[in-house]
Amino acid sequence: MSVLEVKDLHVSVETEQGTKQILKGVDLTVKQGEIHAIMGPNGSGKSTLAYSIAGHPKYHVESGSILLDGAEVLEMSVDERARAGIFLAMQYPVEIPGVRMTDFLRTAKTAIDGEAPAIRGWVKEVGEAMGALRMDKSFGERNVNEGFSGGEKKRHEILQLELLKPKFAVLDETDSGLDVDALKIVSEGVNRAHAATDLGVLLITHYTRILRYIKPDFVHVFVDGKVAEEGGPELAERLENEGYDRFLQPSGVA
Ligand code: ADP
Ligand code: MG
Ligand code: MG
Repeated sequence: MSVLEVKDLHVSVETEQGTKQILKGVDLTVKQGEIHAIMGPNGSGKSTLAYSIAGHPKYHVESGSILLDGAEVLEMSVDERARAGIFLAMQYPVEIPGVRMTDFLRTAKTAIDGEAPAIRGWVKEVGEAMGALRMDKSFGERNVNEGFSGGEKKRHEILQLELLKPKFAVLDETDSGLDVDALKIVSEGVNRAHAATDLGVLLITHYTRILRYIKPDFVHVFVDGKVAEEGGPELAERLENEGYDRFLQPSGVA
């Protein structure tokens, strides 16, 4: 069983005002098969964690480490991270003019597995996965993300997740901009991937809404670049009722 470990991670970005520290010592362990919700107020550093795992060049890791089964992820290229089994939706270009989705998916699958999938089984698998996500067949003929609506982009993300079969997926605000029907379809896709391949999930979300459909085993609350509180699903329920106020105001002050 694989383990993804974030250890005492400090991350900064360069801004016009100088170097800004964003992550200030994040510790997190995700085992395969576990679903971890990363919650927290806007600006607390949730996306920065996702980008750091993804290897986005804008985010400088000052210290700490990210280990996948003991191997240092920070030393891997973005491609190597994907081949190692980490799925990061944001690593893919927003739009790829002239590349059909079906070709893109097959190329990505080939790159990650190190060999091309057998064509008949693959076509069937893609068709079934698209059907489960209620994506029209014609979708496969369209160019990647070209003119996709917000909901279509999210479905495409989850389609990749189901087909590429990573060990860990980092999903940043997958719920944003989805109506309830699309949210259900996308959540079911994540749950299928979790059940089928024992996927480990880092589900980053500001709102508790998606947690009605994807049940986290653990909840971590980010505040000011650190994990301020951790618990089980009951913590998400508490946040649903109370919001983040108690993390943002000093307690006991009238
Ligand atoms: P969250 O996803 O929790 O809303 P972010 O990780 O996006 O938080 O941002 C955390 C803080 O870092 C915010 O104050 C944000 O403005 C700042 N930040 C993030 N990325 C950049 C960047 N590329 N340049 C400057 N500031 C950034
Ligand atoms: Mg599980
Ligand atoms: Mg964010």
